[in-house]
Amino acid sequence: MTGQLSTNPELSMAALLSAFGPNLEFARDLAPLSSFKTGGKASYFIAAGSTGEVTKAVSAARRLKIPFFVIGGGTNLLISDSGFSGLIIRVEVTGLKLRSETEIECGAGEELKALINFATENELTGLEFAAGIWGTVGGAIYGNAGAYGGEIGSVVSEVSLVDLEGRPRTVTAEYGRFAYRDSHFKRTREIIVSAVFKLAKGQKQAIEQKISDILVQREEKYCNLGNSAGCFFKNIPDPKEKYGKLSAGRLLDEVGAKELEVGGAKVFEKHANIIVNKGNASSQDIRRLADIMKKKVRDKFGVELTEEIVQIGDF
Ligand SMILES: Cc1cc2nc3c(=O)[nH]c(=O)nc-3n(C[C@H](O)[C@H](O)[C@H](O)COP(=O)(O)OP(=O)(O)OC[C@H]3O[C@@H](n4cnc5c(N)ncnc54)[C@H](O)[C@@H]3O)c2cc1C
Repeated sequence: MTGQLSTNPELSMAALLSAFGPNLEFARDLAPLSSFKTGGKASYFIAAGSTGEVTKAVSAARRLKIPFFVIGGGTNLLISDSGFSGLIIRVEVTGLKLRSETEIECGAGEELKALINFATENELTGLEFAAGIWGTVGGAIYGNAGAYGGEIGSVVSEVSLVDLEGRPRTVTAEYGRFAYRDSHFKRTREIIVSAVFKLAKGQKQAIEQKISDILVQREEKYCNLGNSAGCFFKNIPDPKEKYGKLSAGRLLDEVGAKELEVGGAKVFEKHANIIVNKGNASSQDIRRLADIMKKKVRDKFGVELTEEIVQIGDF
């Protein structure tokens, strides 16, 4: 659900607190929760630490006709400067445990990094590709986060979620219909509360080595990056290219994107598909810069770039 509906001005603070519980926050500043460090306020905000809390928040929002939007680590978001007129639910469901010799059950609010560390400690291989990807497990499943030829969807076996009626249920990986930076959850907007990952037995030293190699490569690519949300646009599917994708960064490089700036937003000098907040950017600066980048690629190559980042609120 997004900000298409407006919040109901008739609702008193007491009625809202009674429906959502005492942890409901009002006029919450969202910029600190986004890795771009931009954006306005949410009318209402709640951090949900359990499936029950997610269920309660979704059911109350439905009952009171308040639009809501779910966030995790905020590392793939562009939040409107005018904020979000509705409820932001931040999924903070934590917990990591072995379900079997090769399966890990993980709360959606866990950092992806914590899941990778847990897998390494338990000598489980299959998640190394994700080393260095920011954000939470829920966000990674939603966007089928990936790198170095691997994708989260390929190691997920089960997802527990709360649907838009506020009902909890568990689905298998097939339901997720994972594809490049895509999942069925993008369409259903269901809220992921936990997941099971099916890995394989490996050797701790070999796992650590793989992770360390990837982190070294990422450090070279991203050092001194600053406030950003990683790649702004998706790569373009192309079977002739490495990993089956034509790099959006390469096209952007060829149109001179690394020289571009709008207000406080600029393109990262080491990677033409990354926008950085120099410190004083507004989300509108970032959006305008992204539009210029898109136009340049369209004009030169006839290719329409599509956003990997997710926008919240009006632009
Ligand atoms: C420096 C840097 C490098 C990055 N490198 C990579 C990379 O290599 N590969 C890659 O794929 N990404 C990369 N990213 C992008 C980002 O880290 C991932 O997309 C990450 O998976 C987003 O997770 P999040 O928890 O921060 O999600 P958020 O940014 O909070 O949300 C993103 C989307 O996920 C949805 N969402 C979040 N949690 C849930 C949930 N529990 N249930 C349902 N929906 C949910 C939100 O509604 C939103 O639509 C990078 C980002 C940065 C800043």
